[in-house]
Amino acid sequence: MKASVNPNYSPAYVACHVSRSLFCAIFLMLAIMISPVAGFVFSAADDPENHAPALERHQFTSPHMGTLFRIVLYASSDSLASAAADSAFRRIEELNDIMSDYIPDSELNHLAATAGSGNFVPVSGPLFEVLQTSQMVSAQTGGAFDITSGPFVRLWREMRRDEEPQLPGKKALREASQSVGYKHLKLDESRQKAMLEKPGMKLDLGGIAKGYAADEIRQVLLHFGIESVLIDAGGDMVTGSAPPGRDGWNIAVPAHDEHDEPDPFLLTLTHAAVSTSGDLYQFVEIDGKRYSHIIDPKTGIGITEQRTVTVIGESAMLADAYSTALSVLPIPDGLALIDRKTGYSSYFEVIDGETITPYETEEFTELRENQNRSDR
Ligand code: ADP
Ligand code: MG
Repeated sequence: MKASVNPNYSPAYVACHVSRSLFCAIFLMLAIMISPVAGFVFSAADDPENHAPALERHQFTSPHMGTLFRIVLYASSDSLASAAADSAFRRIEELNDIMSDYIPDSELNHLAATAGSGNFVPVSGPLFEVLQTSQMVSAQTGGAFDITSGPFVRLWREMRRDEEPQLPGKKALREASQSVGYKHLKLDESRQKAMLEKPGMKLDLGGIAKGYAADEIRQVLLHFGIESVLIDAGGDMVTGSAPPGRDGWNIAVPAHDEHDEPDPFLLTLTHAAVSTSGDLYQFVEIDGKRYSHIIDPKTGIGITEQRTVTVIGESAMLADAYSTALSVLPIPDGLALIDRKTGYSSYFEVIDGETITPYETEEFTELRENQNRSDR
């Protein structure tokens, strides 16, 4: 059977509509049975034994950072839910104004404008946190993850705009590579300052910012006292505590069965981030070869080996960065990296023509063995 990846499939949480409606129906029947007035719906708030107001499910979607953000949360009132979601989306816009490389006036672009000046410049708290984490992941991955790849990413974007795309020429790649390299991004931890050593350096946070944003949304919602949440930042997800009466949130990890048919793992998770990287949507095809938007900083061009990488862990920012890094790293190195990191696990597939080869870290095997496969 031909190996194929369903382009319409993306990792997504699977809402528990069936079980919820069943639960609601039983609850309603019980309420009517014990209520003296027909049609009166007994609610948890009316239970003298239970003073906590009933939590209702709410869902909000809003486009940000070039993707659709979705928040699912359980809250005690519509007004609380809306206020919390509004506040969360406002926070994402603030972060976008800081971290976007598309917005000319973003803090990121202001920082890039100082490249080569020899000066350390002050950086806001959120940006500094993302820069620090990025540098840590770069060091752990020998530069496979590298936010200074901005000049290469620009070449990739130019190539994508062309009607008949051609790979960047050697000269363009050589020039761009003069301004790439995470070791040329210096951070002054004590003074929260950064310096871009080489002229022309450009930072690109596309491989980490959405994860950071997902973590931030969770924090904003927590400030509203909302704990039972699922946030999906277009493939970068984070879950809070379980929905009422459930063990957790059902998250689908893209996978294929032994016949190469889509067969995602359904994991029930709480307090976990899940990030998936892959080139299912973003690639340029040249002479029948797919060049991903994930770039190997060693060559300056998009990776051609097709992988779908999922990383699970506590921080969505880290899961996001690691899933990008594992798309570039040699497979044994990627597996070893995640195996060394307690609380993190990874499942990924390498798609080579007709063949799909799965890989997983030890912790993922444990996680998977304790859960059910979607269609079994
Ligand atoms: P997605 O945006 O599909 O979730 P990723 O999280 O993997 O995908 O991020 C890919 C983005 O990261 C690219 O579009 C680019 O902006 C940036 N990027 C590309 N290659 C690298 C790399 N080697 N290291 C860090 N960031 C990268
Ligand atoms: Mg990423």
